[in-house]
Amino acid sequence: MARYKMKPVEVEAYQWNGWHNSEPGIRPYFSKSDSWTCPKCGGIDIVHGWVDTMRGGHVICPGDYIITNFGEEHMPCNPDLFSSSYDPIA
Ligand SMILES: [Zn+2]
Repeated sequence: MARYKMKPVEVEAYQWNGWHNSEPGIRPYFSKSDSWTCPKCGGIDIVHGWVDTMRGGHVICPGDYIITNFGEEHMPCNPDLFSSSYDPIA
């Protein structure tokens, strides 16, 4: 058996600020209940977004990073995981 190291992967990403502008693939999140609070950040639905991916939809919290894969799929990633997984390219 030999040892292998994963090759570095470059991605495009930006931090979503909770405002609904025209970011591709992201739409406002509407909860089905009046008293929904986010299990991840504790916020209310109006500041959240929603994105559909090939593996289902995801709620996006304000401050989450949106990673764009191959120019089409948009994946949310929480900021702690993002900063431990990716470094900015100078
Ligand atoms: Zn949230």
